[in-house]
Amino acid sequence: MKQKMNCDGTCTSGFKCVQCGFPIDTLYIQYSPGNIRLMKCEYCKAAADEYIECEFMILIIDLILHKPKAYRHLFYNRFSKEAVNFKGLLWKSILAFLILDIYRMWVLRMNENEWTLPVTTVSFLLDFSKVFASVVLENVIFLAVMIHGTGKLQSASARVFGWKELLLIVIISSYFKIFLMAMMVWKFPSSVIFIIDMFIVSSNYVALKVITDSMMVRCLTVCLMAHGLKFISCQGLIVLC
Ligand SMILES: [Zn+2]
Repeated sequence: MKQKMNCDGTCTSGFKCVQCGFPIDTLYIQYSPGNIRLMKCEYCKAAADEYIECEFMILIIDLILHKPKAYRHLFYNRFSKEAVNFKGLLWKSILAFLILDIYRMWVLRMNENEWTLPVTTVSFLLDFSKVFASVVLENVIFLAVMIHGTGKLQSASARVFGWKELLLIVIISSYFKIFLMAMMVWKFPSSVIFIIDMFIVSSNYVALKVITDSMMVRCLTVCLMAHGLKFISCQGLIVLC
């Protein structure tokens, strides 16, 4: 996590202080393997990114608690294009996102229409292709609104994310979908899906707020619009299929 500077001396590392969001050139200095010193933020004088020395579980807990500093660490300091295999991470995230959403749609369809598993391979493939097409369509609508809306909001922000980065941010901030996996093991009422959806909306909102520094109302509007359109298209597709 070394610094890069423009010819005019401004910071291009993209790193930010997780406490206040102030840009910082470098997050730590390494003296020897395992011996590092965290840099302090020039603005708030706190350690710029305490998560570098924390256990990963602390980051997970802070993300679940919706702490903006955890989201800043993730989007500005951890998932920089230089620090990770960006393309690989993006494709894996999209795949996991779609698989979990297919499972979600499957459960919803079973509950809505007392739908049972198809008996033949052909009918199974036919039903699966309908669910897959529905999930892809509703997520194209959802992601297009989120990315376009975020793109509009981030114009005043210090760092402008590209659409691929925004796509990854939206997907990563929808991490509450992972809890759908618990429904594959234990039986839960379908209302749990809507509780998970609420957490995803709130997590997407915090992510938008952190990366755009925009007003709460604007971020909330983009999130609610994207999720609202996804919900409407999902309901419509359940009825049609
Ligand atoms: Zn700071």
